[in-house]
Amino acid sequence: MAHSIFQVPYPSNEPILSYAPGSKEKKEVLEMYAKLYNAKMDIPMRIGNQDVRSGDTQHMHPPHDHKHSLGIYHKAEVQHVKEAIEASLNAKAAWSKMPWESRASIFLKAAELVAGPYRSKINAATMLAQSKTIHQAEIDAACEYIDFLRFNVSFMQEIYENQPENSPGIWNRLSYRPLEGFVYAVSPFNFTAIAGNLCASSAMMGNTIVWKPSDHQVFSAQVLMEVFQEAGLPDGVINMIFGDPEMITNTVLESPDFAGIHYTGSTDVFRGIWGKIGTQIERYKSYPRIVGETGGKDFILAHPSAKPKEVATGIVRGAFEFQGQKCSAASRVYLPESIAEEVISFLKTDLDTIKMGSPADFENFVTAVIHKGAFDRLKNAIEQVRKDKEAEIIAGGGYDDSEGYFIQPTVVRTTNPKYTTMTRELFGPLVTLYVYPDNSWSETLELVDTTSEYALTGAVYSQDRYALEEALNALEQSAGNFYINDKPTGAVVGQQPFGGARGSGTNDKAGSASNLLRWVSPRLIKETFVPAKDYRYPFLG
Ligand code: NAD
Repeated sequence: MAHSIFQVPYPSNEPILSYAPGSKEKKEVLEMYAKLYNAKMDIPMRIGNQDVRSGDTQHMHPPHDHKHSLGIYHKAEVQHVKEAIEASLNAKAAWSKMPWESRASIFLKAAELVAGPYRSKINAATMLAQSKTIHQAEIDAACEYIDFLRFNVSFMQEIYENQPENSPGIWNRLSYRPLEGFVYAVSPFNFTAIAGNLCASSAMMGNTIVWKPSDHQVFSAQVLMEVFQEAGLPDGVINMIFGDPEMITNTVLESPDFAGIHYTGSTDVFRGIWGKIGTQIERYKSYPRIVGETGGKDFILAHPSAKPKEVATGIVRGAFEFQGQKCSAASRVYLPESIAEEVISFLKTDLDTIKMGSPADFENFVTAVIHKGAFDRLKNAIEQVRKDKEAEIIAGGGYDDSEGYFIQPTVVRTTNPKYTTMTRELFGPLVTLYVYPDNSWSETLELVDTTSEYALTGAVYSQDRYALEEALNALEQSAGNFYINDKPTGAVVGQQPFGGARGSGTNDKAGSASNLLRWVSPRLIKETFVPAKDYRYPFLG
């Protein structure tokens, strides 16, 4: 076989399409939405080369239209989980030996498929499954996913190129082996791109995967699987199974070949999985890699020098886009007395213009929250605020689940900086404001740092550079992604590698080389060209 040192295409971020009135992309995505809405899908699991229909099924409903069924998907029994593990182990030898440039080609092709022929399908499926507006679907399912694929291929090359020093007569080489065994990917409902990336990034590095998407993202997960297949991903490399998360996870963790977990979701679930891995560590052939990006209680902090309109816009976009269901969404805000009323006034004016409803109507900025559990959690929090003396609702506060799980964008004002909605991740369109005295900047920084167990994202608005410097120092551990004069959401692959620490995760930075490094186990090869023939060193002479 002829060899070459290949160079992958230089990656750049996928341009975001506008979906403006009259645009071609708007027409296409709405046609696809209508088609998928009525498609009555029967979604199988994918295990090895088989589409598996267990017969134990679950209906899928758009959160904004929950009486409508999009069709069914099939759920795994223990046996299916074991088969998925076996399929991934069977595929391992051939896949891990496939030249890296061929693996790169498959995922680059997947990126082009999403950018072109699958764009409207993956966006429409995300609008239906997760109730994203077209803009939110486009920046997630299309652009972010394309970016993950293209940038990761380039990071893969960067990793392989990273080689040790040599000395005369000796050649040191690092080969980046995939992990021994299989990788388990567990993805959340809220980003189609994250779901696709959790399985694809580790597969790209030569691993084979058992992937369990969220029950609330199956409809768009299926499109990801179609793309993998059309891109030429061999059978068994990514096995997709659905169903009871606890049963599936327990079965996976019983396997001695379990080599690592790539997880994104809530903090408590991740802690539970970590605990289970820990208690049965003797079972495994190697120490499993544990990578998890988890919850957040993300802040916006305004300094008295901040511009009120900029702060208000940061809150509206940061707290309410995708109904506040981004792990990075702003949910606690600290305003100085001197500008608080002006910020609140801008905020209320903006909220008065926001429309809520189906994502099929492009005038809506906000749609439904993901499911009844989320609706009830937010409804209860709103009712709690209505009862409590230390907090009040200053905007929104309405809810209605007759057609879809709609929660009105809600602003709470509290006099207690440790009030429950300032500390608990509610994961919805509810943001809480606390007003601090202008002369307590340093104390407020301390408050922001110590209020939550999380450390995912945070934003500071200030025109005063000394105040910013103080914030950068005081909040060093408070956010893995720190924003200056910008909202804390909307990380772009290749530009703002994403992840937080403390209770927010292992901070392995999705969309960066450091994440891909977790999916390889380097082997060092030292080759000596002319070996020694005498054990005696000169000093013995
Ligand atoms: P979730 O925790 O309910 O579910 C995440 C995944 O874990 C799903 O696949 C689910 O089926 C599975 N799961 C649930 N219970 C389980 C169990 N007992 N054992 C094993 N697996 C189990 O989260 P979600 O509602 O899908 O997503 C929202 C959460 O994800 C929020 O907490 C959010 O902050 C977090 N999130 C974090 C990031 C990040 O990058 N830090 C990104 C997206 C979402």
